Amino acid sequence: MRLETRAPGKINVCLYLGPTRADGRHELVSVMQSVTLADRLRLEAGDGRDEVDCPGVDGDNLVTAAMERFRAATGWSGEAVRISIDKRIPIAAGMAGGSADAGAALRLLARASGIEDRELLHEIATALGADVPAQVRPGRVLATGAGEQIERVPGVARYAVLVVPAEGPLLTADVFREADRLGLARDAAGLDAALRDVRAGLPDLPDALCVNELEPAALSLRPALEQTLAQVREAGADVAMVSGSGPTVLGLFRDVKAGKAAKAHFPGAKVAKPVGPHGGEVLAA
Ligand code: ATP
Repeated sequence: MRLETRAPGKINVCLYLGPTRADGRHELVSVMQSVTLADRLRLEAGDGRDEVDCPGVDGDNLVTAAMERFRAATGWSGEAVRISIDKRIPIAAGMAGGSADAGAALRLLARASGIEDRELLHEIATALGADVPAQVRPGRVLATGAGEQIERVPGVARYAVLVVPAEGPLLTADVFREADRLGLARDAAGLDAALRDVRAGLPDLPDALCVNELEPAALSLRPALEQTLAQVREAGADVAMVSGSGPTVLGLFRDVKAGKAAKAHFPGAKVAKPVGPHGGEVLAA
């Protein structure tokens, strides 16, 4: 049996930062959108034990954890599998590449095992990390809680996303810590107000609501990103923002042609577009 799927990266079209919960995670309100910049995953028969092959990622892989949790939660005792990952999403760049891979691995395992139980997959995904549930089925979602409460927002936005990579990673935990040091988080009432505004602005948020409240923390740790943001604005982006916890910078271009043209000004940049659930279809390889 050989199956494959794509793991679309995600952008946070907005991210409003709220208070810290008892479990230490920040509450947030975020519209997450999957994009065509995607890793490729293939599942095939393994050699006696479950394995993950993921060139470019050292250390523990979230897909290994996804396989272990899938077997434990479902009791599936099918033969060992190997999942190979072709990384295209920049690593530790604020596009949730690891979470996207974990979500994609769960789709592959669900198909391979015949256990396509959405609620159970959501539970497994939540245990893997706050960003994973939104990636089990790509598309556009409104995420609340610490990111694990997902409401799907139908339709696919029509803008070009200029993805400008930056040198070196920014660790999500460091960026949240810096946000705390800077006192960036809203209180509960402030976060409720943000949620009301965002709901009223859906499905396609107006530019004024496309705000990343983690951005000042990322800029504090990486001041050079200010210049990239300015250049993306100058190149004609309707919205320029740091992606998630950074350091990738995004430009949203309502004029798709202008977005494609802007790419030439940024070495290593890519142009992606939003995708819906079909962006994560599982196919026979
Ligand atoms: P997020 O936005 O979800 O916090 P990110 O986009 O900033 O994440 P990732 O690319 O998901 O960052 O990587 C974060 C860390 O996770 C990396 O340092 C990497 O070592 C580890 N990791 C584990 N599994 C993977 C994977 N399959 N792909 C990428 N990174 C992985």
